[in-house]
Amino acid sequence: MASAPALGQVPASGEVDIAIIGAGAAGIAAARRIAAARRSYALLEASGRIGGRVATGAGVFGIGHDRGAHRLSSSGRNPLVALGRLEGLRLYDPSPARRLNVGLREARDNEYDDFTAAVRRASRAIAAAGEAGRDIAAARALPDLGDWQATVAFVLGPLFCSKDLDQVSTVDFGRAEDRSDDLVCREGLGKLIAAAAKPLTVELDSPVRRIDSWGRGRIALNTARGVVRARALIITASMNVLVSDRIRFDQPLPKHVANALAALSLGTYDRVVLELPGNPFKMADDQRVIFKTTAARSMALVGRVGGTDLAYAELTGNLGRELSNAGEAAMVAFVGDFIAAQYGADARKRIGRTEAVRWSNELWIRGGNSAAAPGSGASRKVLAEPVQDRIFFAGEAVHETWWGTVAGAWVSGERAATAALRYIGVTPPSDSPARIEGRKKSP
Ligand SMILES: Cc1cc2nc3c(=O)[nH]c(=O)nc-3n(C[C@H](O)[C@H](O)[C@H](O)COP(=O)(O)OP(=O)(O)OC[C@H]3O[C@@H](n4cnc5c(N)ncnc54)[C@H](O)[C@@H]3O)c2cc1C
Repeated sequence: MASAPALGQVPASGEVDIAIIGAGAAGIAAARRIAAARRSYALLEASGRIGGRVATGAGVFGIGHDRGAHRLSSSGRNPLVALGRLEGLRLYDPSPARRLNVGLREARDNEYDDFTAAVRRASRAIAAAGEAGRDIAAARALPDLGDWQATVAFVLGPLFCSKDLDQVSTVDFGRAEDRSDDLVCREGLGKLIAAAAKPLTVELDSPVRRIDSWGRGRIALNTARGVVRARALIITASMNVLVSDRIRFDQPLPKHVANALAALSLGTYDRVVLELPGNPFKMADDQRVIFKTTAARSMALVGRVGGTDLAYAELTGNLGRELSNAGEAAMVAFVGDFIAAQYGADARKRIGRTEAVRWSNELWIRGGNSAAAPGSGASRKVLAEPVQDRIFFAGEAVHETWWGTVAGAWVSGERAATAALRYIGVTPPSDSPARIEGRKKSP
């Protein structure tokens, strides 16, 4: 393999300064920074495509849509916004971004106020428990929210964290920063990530199966296509992949690191994409609809995705996992029943074709987003430290406050690259340019 790499390409096998496992947002950001510092890298991706949990495809509908991440959160300081604009992609504000439904109708002003106040009270109570050093299950810190209890628990738990609140640490939840002011990319976030990766060389279908880091020599990465040796390593594989036996470490990870990986397991964020021809439920473009509920088993709906007739039914947390395990038919059946319960029995007939997206079943992802288990609120900090001075973790799970987002993954990738460059004695560029030139020739 790659005995005579083409000029300007990094070989899939051979020696490089820094190797990166995974070409999702974090891995691409890391590679761009290393390329900007004019050092060699190998960006190794297990699957046959780049982007990880960012993917734009047409599915059965023939209409491009995001299958994973859809919004650029906290757009005012999200580094991908500038990049998207530079690439000429159309970013827009999906306003009004959220809607609350009570039964068949939209919530009245006073109900919006009550809901917003209940979300704030709950968030503050969870954060206050964490700040007071009570690293307990967020569910235990919830105040009495009256008839908003189940709705707020769903929004803050499964929808925000991919996990139910009894599995989420108060400390971890309390550190999450505000993620409003979203932007949506008309062409799909996958196109933005693809544009970011355009100047890079990515080795697809190259799963890293074993990492040998014994001694002070180069780290050896055993892939299905050969061995790559690197002076430093950045690992961006998801926590659920890392705790499986899909990647083996010849040197067992320190116990506190292994514990942190396990504590930050991914919850479930799967979805059914459905056609709703003619916008029967009168949703605005990319609007997320929350339903007032008294049941723990709820879902959110995102309407008119990218201005099309497609919608997302978000199946998250315990319910999402249960349905996903039961299979596509069970997911679609639940969504049909839920829509009928919310909009009336006839509403089911308005649903056209459907397609389930099961991130929890994707071999090299295995879930939605990370959330720290109760008692493990410091886990992200642990992963921000290198192992053996030269193995760096990156990805959404490693960002302390912006976890669960593309931006958090991106920034953590850049940080890991900076640290890895320093380790090999290179002063990193002070900032990553929005545009990087050409490909880095391997040594
Ligand atoms: C349904 C859904 C909706 C979401 N919506 C949003 C949203 O609207 N906005 C937002 O900001 N975020 C959203 N997120 C979260 C966001 O998608 C993730 O936080 C982010 O994409 C994670 O990027 P990452 O680089 O950390 O990891 P990943 O995207 O998981 O990338 C890791 C890569 O590593 C590869 N890999 C794994 N193991 C190996 C191996 N052994 N060898 C080589 N390669 C390997 C994987 O194939 C993958 O490509 C959503 C997530 C989901 C699931």
